[in-house]
Amino acid sequence: MKKHYSIWLDNEENIKFPNVKDGIKVDVAIIGGGIVGITAGLMLKKKGFKVAIIESKRICSDVTGSTTAKLTISSNLIYNQLLSNFGIETALKFKDSNILAFNRISKIINENKIDCDYKKLPLYIYSTDKNNFKDIEKEYDAIKKLNIDADLIDDFQLPYEKSFKEINEQNKTTIIKNNISDSDNKIINKAIRYNKQAQFHPKKYCNGLAKLISGNGSYIFEKSKAINIEEGKTNKIITEKGNIFCDDIIIATNSPIYDPNSTVSYMNPIKSYMLGVYVKEKIPEAMFVDINPFHTYRKTQNNNNKDLLIIAGEHHITGHGEDTNEHYKKLIEFTKKKFNIESIEYFWSDQDNRTADGLPVIGETSQKGIYLATGFSSWGLVKATLAGIILKDLISNKENEYAKIFSPNRFKKEKSIKKKCMSNFNKKDLNQEELKLLNEELLNLKKDEAKIIKINNRRISLYKDLKSNTFVLQANCTHFGCPLSWNSAEKTWDCPQHGSIFDYKGNSIHGPAIKDLKDYLN
Ligand SMILES: Cc1cc2nc3c(=O)[nH]c(=O)nc-3n(C[C@H](O)[C@H](O)[C@H](O)COP(=O)(O)OP(=O)(O)OC[C@H]3O[C@@H](n4cnc5c(N)ncnc54)[C@H](O)[C@@H]3O)c2cc1C
Repeated sequence: MKKHYSIWLDNEENIKFPNVKDGIKVDVAIIGGGIVGITAGLMLKKKGFKVAIIESKRICSDVTGSTTAKLTISSNLIYNQLLSNFGIETALKFKDSNILAFNRISKIINENKIDCDYKKLPLYIYSTDKNNFKDIEKEYDAIKKLNIDADLIDDFQLPYEKSFKEINEQNKTTIIKNNISDSDNKIINKAIRYNKQAQFHPKKYCNGLAKLISGNGSYIFEKSKAINIEEGKTNKIITEKGNIFCDDIIIATNSPIYDPNSTVSYMNPIKSYMLGVYVKEKIPEAMFVDINPFHTYRKTQNNNNKDLLIIAGEHHITGHGEDTNEHYKKLIEFTKKKFNIESIEYFWSDQDNRTADGLPVIGETSQKGIYLATGFSSWGLVKATLAGIILKDLISNKENEYAKIFSPNRFKKEKSIKKKCMSNFNKKDLNQEELKLLNEELLNLKKDEAKIIKINNRRISLYKDLKSNTFVLQANCTHFGCPLSWNSAEKTWDCPQHGSIFDYKGNSIHGPAIKDLKDYLN
């Protein structure tokens, strides 16, 4: 395996923006320079607002830089779920708003001549397991009720030629085992085919948008982490590099670093693993989502114009999986069963927040003038544009017909959330005797081993790197104090509750946590 990062971050143009300039005042400050922040920034600027995007790393280098970049008006089997849980009006609004945002992306690309490998393709949401066929049929019934352009199809060509034959063989065996009628078993797969969906290169797209934002009183700032917000008549955002003043604020940090509505208690961070692989098979011109076991397939082209398969799978709630290296191993084994692999070029993982009701969270929070966009349930690229449209309207005091169903105010603020996580742990530095205990533990630690120990009511994480440097940190998240788990593949400490991620040195690299972990050695 070659590169431990996504293909999108490998072959993009490396545009850079400066650090925050202290004291600047804008109309709208946007914290987070992923696709949500960049899209909202551009839409607001075009509407005449002066904006500042404040990004802690480089733009679109977190979740947007890790996505599989399928642009769809669907999110798995969402329409049946929406019809059942909310009824026709909400389901129609979801559909219409997704179509509006989907079309807006191609309009933005055309108007601004953004070269981002945008291509219209069919999307297959399918299963090869007949136990799931009913779910696919129910979804199809729902999308027909909603008048969505899609077909229900059987026995289409799967992304992998090899397994097309294997599944045929498997089905013959099932006929004998289950004594099910021959005609049922002849169907080897079932899919909903959305005919005109699309894919693109997310970093190229965002770079194209970002170039249109800076200038005439608008800014993009990189490597400038926001560490606090002080609300007032004029709001103040305190960053590591200086302060920004503004009227309105958009929190576009993927996991909200400021969350008056406690949305984090209605979301789960879902981790996924991806490979970029050269395979011998010809990969079809389409995108595929296998609903069980959940995997997605699409192709892209590498710099040398050779087709590269992107396969994603092994989803689990962050911090709840087994040893994370095992997930990569399983995904590789799975890919090998389906394809003849020439080489694995890229491997990477990332996470997105899944909301309990399946709808993203977009709108003004209970705190006036502070807006939020999160909860994209791993389908956030079209919804980022939807967020841009809705937030631009709300900030311009214009009514938006879709805003209500996505509003953060649909959640009740949960007062006890902090308490649930907070263990009453000891925040004091280690005394001489405790340091002696710690040193014994460190001596016994192998290279590249991590563990959690308890010393006098403290959870302490230990990690020894390959050069025998040791790192001794608080093992509870700085957000709400939840216990952290070790991610052996990425060498990070992850919060299973709300999705914060810290590198092995203790730096907070993904929200909702902002503060770094306490370091017991320095
Ligand atoms: C494996 C995977 C596959 C996916 N596939 C698809 C797909 O095929 N189609 C689809 O539609 N969606 C997909 N998604 C979902 C989609 O990629 C995300 O919903 C979307 O990219 C989220 O964008 P964002 O701007 O919210 O997040 P991000 O891109 O993470 O942007 C948030 C930004 O905020 C910055 N930030 C955080 N904290 C601070 C701070 N304190 N100060 C300043 N900046 C800060 C971060 O550095 C980051 O750049 C996938 C997601 C995953 C994980």
